[in-house]
Order: sequence, then C-alpha cells, then structure tokens
Amino acid sequence: MTKTDLTCWFCQQTQSKDGYTVELVNHNQRAQVVVPVCSDCKNKHTISIKRFFLVFYGIACSGFLAHVAVLFFRESAPVGSGVLLGYGMALIWIIPALILGILAMLSSLKGTKPQRYLLQYPALQARLKEGYSIGKSKS
Ligand SMILES: [Zn+2]
Repeated sequence: MTKTDLTCWFCQQTQSKDGYTVELVNHNQRAQVVVPVCSDCKNKHTISIKRFFLVFYGIACSGFLAHVAVLFFRESAPVGSGVLLGYGMALIWIIPALILGILAMLSSLKGTKPQRYLLQYPALQARLKEGYSIGKSKS
C-alpha cells in the first residue's frame, strides 16, 4: 500500500507520509482516520510531553522537599497535623509546577500545534458528526 504525501496538519507546511492513526468506533462499526504529521511536528509533540513532566516533577518535588527542609530546620515545631501540612505543602507546589510545566510544553511547540489539535482534522470531525467516537489513538 502506498501512501500519498499529505500536508502536515500541525504545521501546514511540510509534506508527510506519516500520520497519527485515530481509531473510531460507532457501535459495531469501526473506522480509521489518519491525521498527517511530519517528523518535525511529531518530535515536538514527544519533546513537549517529556518537558512538561520534567518541569512539573522537578518543581513539585524540589519545591516540596525544600519546604520540608525549611520546616524541619526551623526551631519551632509546626502546628497541626503533619499529614494535612504535607498535603497543603504539596498543593502549594503542584500549582506553580503545573503552570510552568504547561509553559515549558507550549514553548517547545513553537511552529506547530499541540497533538490534541488532531481533533480538529476535518475528516475526523466529519466522522464524529456521523456518530463515531474515538476508540484510541496511536502514532
Ligand atoms: Zn509538521
């Protein structure tokens, strides 16, 4: 089977033979839609997800540990339940970690669209309107 060259849906610039295959289900019927993606965009998608987790865990963990260390070395013992305090501290660090993680992810997506943009692909949209739903998507 030969695939024809298609313009990458994510950058609208590069011709590509590659694509993300989206499996669709409509009761007992199955269908597939291939959303063209060039290797450059595909790389950016992979890198952006890795970067997100790296930044997210980096900030959440080091922030939390630094916080614990500061409390530990302070002379007065913290007031209240240690477990609740732990949850509170984790929450304090998860929010900025999430924001910075998303920013890091977006910065590595320059010149392309995020992977979830594949949902906007016209052929996929048409299938969804027919009543299909997404089974699973794989690259
Ligand atoms: Zn592309």
